[in-house]
Amino acid sequence: MASDRLHLIKETPQRLLAIFAHPDDADVGVGGTLALFSSKGAEIRLLVVCNGDKGSLNDGVDSQELVSLRRIEVEQASGILGIAHHRFVGVEDGEVENSSELRRTIVAEVRSFKPDVVITHDPSAMFFGTTYFNHRDHRELGMAVLDSVFPAAGSPLYFSDAGLPHQVSYVMLSGTLEANVAIDISSTLEAKREAVRRHQSQVSVDEARILENLVVGAKQVGKRASVTYAEAFRVMANPKALHS
Ligand SMILES: [Zn+2]
Repeated sequence: MASDRLHLIKETPQRLLAIFAHPDDADVGVGGTLALFSSKGAEIRLLVVCNGDKGSLNDGVDSQELVSLRRIEVEQASGILGIAHHRFVGVEDGEVENSSELRRTIVAEVRSFKPDVVITHDPSAMFFGTTYFNHRDHRELGMAVLDSVFPAAGSPLYFSDAGLPHQVSYVMLSGTLEANVAIDISSTLEAKREAVRRHQSQVSVDEARILENLVVGAKQVGKRASVTYAEAFRVMANPKALHS
């Protein structure tokens, strides 16, 4: 684990691309940060890679109905966080692969939107204490996003039919065991809770506890950055951007 203290970063990206595996991942993981950045004028796009078809522990759920429901939930949550545009890639839950096809999709999105910052899962995070190990889709996608940012998106010889090269400045990795920065979400924790509440297909089983856990987690991170509530990230500069 990285050192306990977290450096607070206050700069706001101009354009931010959030790429997450499941329909509720962005809101649960980084909803406070997205709400803060959008309130400060950042333009935010969200790419949801999976369609959420297996996101239920109940018997007899129609997966196509679940997919439709989860699209509505993302739409509502995105409205609360100020996400200007969101899109589903449509991969089935559990089937994310760091494939050439997925990297092409991500590279095309990066080149058309031209974000200065990309937020995604930390693919290196595996074991969180003794109670959670990371979802395969998160690990595969996080790696695919890193591979797409560097070297692919910035190099004209990768996916040359998928737009003109674009260099992302840095990536912010969420769900990390190696956090090095924090974002103060004290002013947007409530928006995050409201966004997460919109994912009723996921939270209705135990809404009060799930929402309380968000607060407890944000408070713990906040303590490490001397603010009330925060979200933690591992920030990595684009190696190419550093050398150009
Ligand atoms: Zn997920």
